[in-house]
Amino acid sequence: MKQITVIGSGTMGNGICHVFAQHGYQVNLVDISQEALDKALTTIGKNMDRQVKKEVITTEEKQAAMTSIRTFTRLAEGAQEADLVIEAATENMAIKKDIFKQLDEVCPPKTILASNTSSISITTIASATKRADKVIGMHFMNPVPVMKLVEIIRGFDTSDATTAAIVEESKKIQKIPVEVNDYPGFISNRILMPMINEAIYTLFESIADVMAIDEVMRLGMAHPMGPLKLADFIGLDVCLSILRVLQEGFGQPKYAPCPLLVNMVEAGHLGVKSGSGFYDWSTDAKNPAVASQFV
Ligand code: NAD
Repeated sequence: MKQITVIGSGTMGNGICHVFAQHGYQVNLVDISQEALDKALTTIGKNMDRQVKKEVITTEEKQAAMTSIRTFTRLAEGAQEADLVIEAATENMAIKKDIFKQLDEVCPPKTILASNTSSISITTIASATKRADKVIGMHFMNPVPVMKLVEIIRGFDTSDATTAAIVEESKKIQKIPVEVNDYPGFISNRILMPMINEAIYTLFESIADVMAIDEVMRLGMAHPMGPLKLADFIGLDVCLSILRVLQEGFGQPKYAPCPLLVNMVEAGHLGVKSGSGFYDWSTDAKNPAVASQFV
């Protein structure tokens, strides 16, 4: 594969674009917002500067990578010659189905269509196309240039050839692919979200405070950060929506979101992005204090 198209240039899209450009691919970056595209190029430039400083790449490699990126606001122009399209647009079923329908119409028959979705069924996304055998999940982790894992999600009709091709490309960009069948939450969120939910229940039932819960998981289980702080980074609205996908998809009460999580999202306490969640991110984001509601 030589030409990769990334749809959506937000947090994940710019990271995916960065990694493929760094490994010598020509990358077309597509977004409906010109502002988002401009911001993505600035972010990629800054992140590559950091890699140059750390001697991960040379200045020449940075320049070559930056010139291999082209930006588009029209999907058809950016995707019509791609070997592989990776969609990283907003997490919304209708948006994703519409993008995949359009991609199926404009891309050559050989093109593999991948989605970076965290929680939407690959099989459902594939149903918007006439090439379900060539639709697959490539679930990168944030921040993409740093995190090694790519969860490779096989939809109900994804072929062995498509899976093998995506495993190979993932290795070429120095990632470690792990295969999983397409069921709610895949592996990562099926295990992570119930853990976060249980941490929230532990707080909700006044069994321990925020610091105690995070310290036990950090120091006792060697997690780099506690589950409540991690939830703040992911976004409490994102955690809630993934838990609802698990609850609905499996029809089991064990995935029901804790009422405290529901309340916090309703109140607009979404974590880092809103300035407060379990921690107060508005004053000292490097060393946040526990949010006043929980002190
Ligand atoms: P984001 O909000 O930062 O970026 C989404 C981008 O998609 C925006 O720039 C928006 O303008 C663009 N967009 C919306 N509709 C579009 C369309 N029709 N065509 C082209 N561009 C469009 O979101 P994000 O955090 O980068 O998440 C993107 C995807 O990655 C989601 O599916 C999410 O579930 C998944 N994901 C996110 C994370 C994470 O930590 N943020 C981790 C893994 C996977």
